[in-house]
Amino acid sequence: MGKLILVATPIGNLDDISTRQTAALQEADLVAAEDTRHSGLLLQHMGLKKPLLSYFQHNEEKREGRLLAELEAGRTVALISDAGTPGICDPGSAILRAAVQAGHATDAIPGPCALIQALILSGLPTERFAFEGFLPRGQALLPFLQSLRQEQRTLIFYEAPHRLQNTLQTMRQAFEPERPMAVCRELTKKFQEINRGTLAEMAELWQQRTPKGEFVLVLGGAPAEQPQAAEDIRQNARQHLERLLAGGMKHKAAAREVAALYQLPVGEVYQMGLELKQN
Ligand code: SAM
Repeated sequence: MGKLILVATPIGNLDDISTRQTAALQEADLVAAEDTRHSGLLLQHMGLKKPLLSYFQHNEEKREGRLLAELEAGRTVALISDAGTPGICDPGSAILRAAVQAGHATDAIPGPCALIQALILSGLPTERFAFEGFLPRGQALLPFLQSLRQEQRTLIFYEAPHRLQNTLQTMRQAFEPERPMAVCRELTKKFQEINRGTLAEMAELWQQRTPKGEFVLVLGGAPAEQPQAAEDIRQNARQHLERLLAGGMKHKAAAREVAALYQLPVGEVYQMGLELKQN
């Protein structure tokens, strides 16, 4: 049986290459890569010389058989993408599933991932988040964003520079403009830049500039609904009860109905009714 290893590579800073990444690529008999020329340069930088096989989004299915045959022959195949973690908006997950199904050993060597880098730098809540990858284009963008309006988790998106301005303007229509946001550009690179502010401020800022480089957008989630304060609940229950009694409903029946609706003890609501009658 062979072994498939998904190996993360830098997202812009070659100093992020780790000892384990180097060892895994060293161990591999074959390296499957999105762009063999680009990855050839990376391997050269790492002092490695390995047979490379192109494996990218549009030949994934075609190449699967070849990679499985290599694994079948007992070889170790390392898979890298152009940048970052394979399988995250990059090829990797389909071949991993196929390798698991065929009973081969699998492993992944961790490393940079733009969404995690952006999230931790954003200053927004990191406890729960939803990664939405690349956004749909054209007419589909606004309804897609609107479908996320109620999402309370921090939202993360990848975006291309030439679509950034339109995306920010459309986000402004879909979400509350005062939501907190971070626009993260050229992460780990020389010109890394993190702009933090409200969605409206970010849309305004990037309207004034020509977006260049790579971007990750991090947007605050919908505010959590505040549980209704206990006193508000009693006040609403009292008013409801008053209406029922004024409408002629029997005291006991009205107390039961209001207690069930507002999840209060029947005795307490009955007492409310007595006080209302006294006043
Ligand atoms: N597999 C990669 C990862 O682990 O993040 C993502 C690959 S995806 C094809 C490329 C997108 O990731 C870019 O369009 C950009 O949104 C984001 N990205 C990648 N590198 C980045 C960087 N250095 N700074 C900001 N965004 C980056």
